[in-house]
Amino acid sequence: MTQFTRIQNAGLAYRLGELDQQLRTDIRAALLQSGDEKYLDLAGRVHDLGDEAVANELIETGDELIERHVQELRAIEAARRRLADGSIDRCVDCGDDIGYERLLAYPVAVRCVVCQRRHEKTYAHEDTPRM
Ligand SMILES: [Zn+2]
Repeated sequence: MTQFTRIQNAGLAYRLGELDQQLRTDIRAALLQSGDEKYLDLAGRVHDLGDEAVANELIETGDELIERHVQELRAIEAARRRLADGSIDRCVDCGDDIGYERLLAYPVAVRCVVCQRRHEKTYAHEDTPRM
């Protein structure tokens, strides 16, 4: 596993922050677009998404797009933990490097390209996140 420089780590943290903001904006927009008054209050609390109660309320809207966004936000949280403990570059399947370029493009990646392809072939029926 390659140790990233502090600048590289900061770059990944920045990308995670960007994705995080984008997803929250999208979730808020989806809630407001629903036109359902009970979601107005929820839209105002999307910034508290670290809060499991808010995340669960969002899942309970039954909106597929919102649910997917919440899962992506959870993946971002997990990536932040991996970044903090220095394991973000380690493929969860084979233990090899994921690679900085790949992480920069797709910072929630948990597998190297080879393992990701194999994973997608094996679980082709499953919904894969759009990121
Ligand atoms: Zn791998």
